[in-house]
Amino acid sequence: MTKLECSVKTCVHNADNCCCKAAIAVDGAKAKNVDDTCCASFDENRGGVFTNLFKTPETRLEVACDAVKCVYNEDQRCAAEHISISGNGACDCTETKCSTFKAQ
Ligand code: SF4
Ligand code: SF4
Repeated sequence: MTKLECSVKTCVHNADNCCCKAAIAVDGAKAKNVDDTCCASFDENRGGVFTNLFKTPETRLEVACDAVKCVYNEDQRCAAEHISISGNGACDCTETKCSTFKAQ
């Protein structure tokens, strides 16, 4: 399981710089750099409608990842100890990225 930090506060799943999902998917099948990746599990928090007080930040989670050109990708799963998802202010998943991506 990967330790994940996420600075995308505009995502409904974010709490305390962590993700509240048990698993996420990162896109970027053709990614050659950080900017070509994105968190496909991003959902915009529109006016806090879906915010609830019972969100539990998960520090470790399963990361399915399409960015096969990343050194940490093993059979479309992330094998990194620790990753950072960034893109605060994002309104769409394409504005997020996996800052830990490292080209092979
Ligand atoms: S952008 Fe992705 S990693 Fe970050 S909180 Fe949302 S779903 Fe989780
Ligand atoms: S570090 Fe690499 S393998 Fe892990 S989620 Fe980011 S892009 Fe995918």
